[in-house]
Amino acid sequence: MGLPPVDRSTLWPFEDGEPGEFYYQRYAHPTGVAAERELGELEGGEALLFSSGSGATTALVLALLKPGDTIAVAEGCYYGTPTLFRELGRWGLRHVEFDQTGPPPDGVELLWLEAPSNPFLTMPDFEAAAAHPAPVVVDATAATPVHLRALDRGADLVLHSATKYLSGHSDVLLGAVVTRDPERAQRLREFRNRSGIVAAPDPAWLLLRGLKTLDLRVRRQSETAAELARRLESHPNVAIVRYPGFGGLLSFDVAGDARKVERSTRLITNATSLGGVESTMETRRRWEGDRVPENLLRLSVGLEDVDELWTDLKQALPD
Ligand code: PLP
Repeated sequence: MGLPPVDRSTLWPFEDGEPGEFYYQRYAHPTGVAAERELGELEGGEALLFSSGSGATTALVLALLKPGDTIAVAEGCYYGTPTLFRELGRWGLRHVEFDQTGPPPDGVELLWLEAPSNPFLTMPDFEAAAAHPAPVVVDATAATPVHLRALDRGADLVLHSATKYLSGHSDVLLGAVVTRDPERAQRLREFRNRSGIVAAPDPAWLLLRGLKTLDLRVRRQSETAAELARRLESHPNVAIVRYPGFGGLLSFDVAGDARKVERSTRLITNATSLGGVESTMETRRRWEGDRVPENLLRLSVGLEDVDELWTDLKQALPD
């Protein structure tokens, strides 16, 4: 019962003069392998851990693409993803944005979808993407495998910021890529080993523990978020509610000063990030600029009581 203790060794003795399954931590360690096995089962593929979601994105594009290749990236996805692609533009990587609810553009080498997108909460057209010749990556951070097994919907690679729902307690930074293609998995593993964009044993252990309650947490967060989305829809000072019908993440526009609203909640913490057991809310303008409406608030619903959350939101919203 319980989880095995964390093995923090950076080296393991050779056996009869030969390296065994584990020999140097950068290549593999027992806790990481155990966590990868669990996540792989949930997604239905082979999982590889990275030091963060952004680290996983960096490794994926550097390992699988080459200078001059173009990524078609879902507009309105996590703003850090196109920002990172722009940074990698100095090494010859190109990207274009497209509306993921429709067909992707021709002449690109990789499709980058997000399900649902953060913070606009659109869902990709999986069929249109699967019909495109380029390999498909789905960032399924906000859906989690509880709601979406993207490999079953035609994705070639699934990416997670495991910092969010998979770990679930806002105390670990971690990323993952899952694929059914052994060649891509091998290429990613080699790149990870060389680049050192690796997950340490302690974060992997926290992921293992988080995964034990993933289903319960995400189902409860979904129920509460769906109910809050319904109540927000009928609030006179809420203009637009964006909610895909599942998951714990939603966003809405208020009529009035969103910066004042985010400072006025008591139960809901005014903080960034998402997917934790405690609810967090923030305006996104400060990070994303003109790309998001000024009065957009993103709410990540935690495990608190739905009526207590609604009472908190109501007192913070303008009457
Ligand atoms: N993908 C999505 C959808 C995210 O929300 C985030 C982080 O906010 C990331 C990727 C990046 O993950 P990390 O913060 O673990 O690097």
